[in-house]
Amino acid sequence: MPAAIFRLRRIAHFAKDNSYPNCYAGSPKAEFSDQSAIRQLFICFMSSAESLERLEVALTPQERFEEYLQSRGQRQTKPRKFLVETIFAQHAHFDADELIEKLPRKGEPDYVSSATVYRSLREFVDAGLLNSFQLDGRTVYELDYGYPQHDHLYCTRCRKLIEFRSESLVETRDAAAAEHGFRVTGHRLIVQGVCRECAGSRRKKRKQDLV
Ligand SMILES: [Zn+2]
Ligand SMILES: [Zn+2]
Repeated sequence: MPAAIFRLRRIAHFAKDNSYPNCYAGSPKAEFSDQSAIRQLFICFMSSAESLERLEVALTPQERFEEYLQSRGQRQTKPRKFLVETIFAQHAHFDADELIEKLPRKGEPDYVSSATVYRSLREFVDAGLLNSFQLDGRTVYELDYGYPQHDHLYCTRCRKLIEFRSESLVETRDAAAAEHGFRVTGHRLIVQGVCRECAGSRRKKRKQDLV
């Protein structure tokens, strides 16, 4: 299998598992059978309805990361480059193990060792490319560079993270900070609860129980 198609297939599975169903319509075989289908699939990732709109940034994620490496006297490597490319192909919330699961296996093209994945993720956070936060004892990562600041609703049943932006929340935060002479460097709000789909399936189940 050509490396590019192989890579896209990995990314497609990643998107599917991270609730980007609109990128995965039709049979997987048909999607990868010709170049135009692959292009379509790729465009779909870049404009997924599940994500917030990306911000305009001066440097590409690769360039930004290279700058960071240079400032530390380090060099870009093929595995790091591949990881930046894979992660920035779409916006998702993932932990290290979920990412490893989607990457090529040992012996396949573009294989990256788990140790390199763990180390690179820490570097990406340090470089400002990714955000990381703790959730249910996991370290969850998501894009930061070129992606707007946002908060999350977290479904404790299906573990889905829904993103939202709120100006009034930011205003309340800034007002509270100003009152205390506090300099804000950032915040994270994760609202726990049950998503529409999970609440719906429970209601249905209750109805069935009553019959
Ligand atoms: Zn749910
Ligand atoms: Zn998010």
